[in-house]
Amino acid sequence: MELAELIGLRPVPAGGVLVTLTRRCPLRCAHCSTGSAPEVREEPEAEALLRFVSSFTAGDRPEVMMLTGGEPLLRPRLVAALARSARAAGTRTALLSGMFFARQGGLPAPIRQAVRTLDHFSASLDLPHEREVPRAAVFRAVREIREMGVAVSFHLTGTGEDDSYLADVTADIARTFGGTVPALVNEVRPFGRAASWARPARTAPDGEGALPCAMAAWPVVAFDGTVLACCNQDTVDRRPAPPHLRLGHVAEDDWAAVRGRTLGSPLLRLVRTVGPAHMWSRWSPGTPADSYCGACRRLSERPEPAAAADAVASGAAGALLDLTSARRQHDDGPVALVRRHGCAAYADLVAAPGGERTRYPAAGGTGS
Ligand code: SF4
Ligand code: SF4
Repeated sequence: MELAELIGLRPVPAGGVLVTLTRRCPLRCAHCSTGSAPEVREEPEAEALLRFVSSFTAGDRPEVMMLTGGEPLLRPRLVAALARSARAAGTRTALLSGMFFARQGGLPAPIRQAVRTLDHFSASLDLPHEREVPRAAVFRAVREIREMGVAVSFHLTGTGEDDSYLADVTADIARTFGGTVPALVNEVRPFGRAASWARPARTAPDGEGALPCAMAAWPVVAFDGTVLACCNQDTVDRRPAPPHLRLGHVAEDDWAAVRGRTLGSPLLRLVRTVGPAHMWSRWSPGTPADSYCGACRRLSERPEPAAAADAVASGAAGALLDLTSARRQHDDGPVALVRRHGCAAYADLVAAPGGERTRYPAAGGTGS
């Protein structure tokens, strides 16, 4: 599974699920947004995760399961077990790693076995990471993984299109891998690793106009096993979660329940189709909000947005509105999505070399 297909699925409601396997990480990157470190011990129960993933079926499953952290490869046997279980239902698995193991040269056996079960492997790379793991070691490990037949990509983070680090590392990747390895380039923002697959856009194109949130499409399993509607780090970390952004818990709910809440919530449908800023300005003008996501997190604090959402986005009409918006964003393709949500100047890199358009998932995949 190439990066372009993966990113192309990002706006599809319940088209994927993000699973954080642990907050722990052997590295200590200065910019870490998840508060990860070697001594942190917060992770969902393996048994609950396995039970949740085993509820995927051929007729009702996400197209892709993204494993992230912290460092997901600190639980290599769990990675392999989850990937095998997902594959039995037809779901493909991708993983994002901070590449701690690359420092020692060569993949340790348990990690090698876990990586073999994946459909896509992505390596994080940025300036703080390079202080922890040398770039040459990361390149060596990525080459080794590609030789195992697993599709690979880089996840790069910088300060923006003028960042000389981004210019240097993208040129180095192109030179080293002959332009055959795609990259997703993001700008540093207050979002966690789960958000690395595309982040909320920063501003509405026309002030308070509609700005859909593609991040409200894929459920996210947080470090405590709670399932949230998005990857905003405050939403992932703070408890209690806003009621409209809490989809369940892996110890209690199966995929069908989580998917049903993702697709069926009128508030989430509107977050996905017009975005929170537009909802406040239309239905409760003058309500102050600190940010795009801050406005969203407060949507269940007052009755007006929920009442308006029930009126315009429930039932079959709301489902059609949601589907139409998702299909339009999907059909615009991964490069357009990264132009909006990532670092626009490097958006084209997401499509190399697997940049062909992919079809909108059929009902069997996402149940939409
Ligand atoms: S590799 Fe990622 S999760 Fe680990 S410390 Fe660095 S930024 Fe945080
Ligand atoms: S808080 Fe709301 S607007 Fe922000 S990423 Fe989550 S769903 Fe989207």
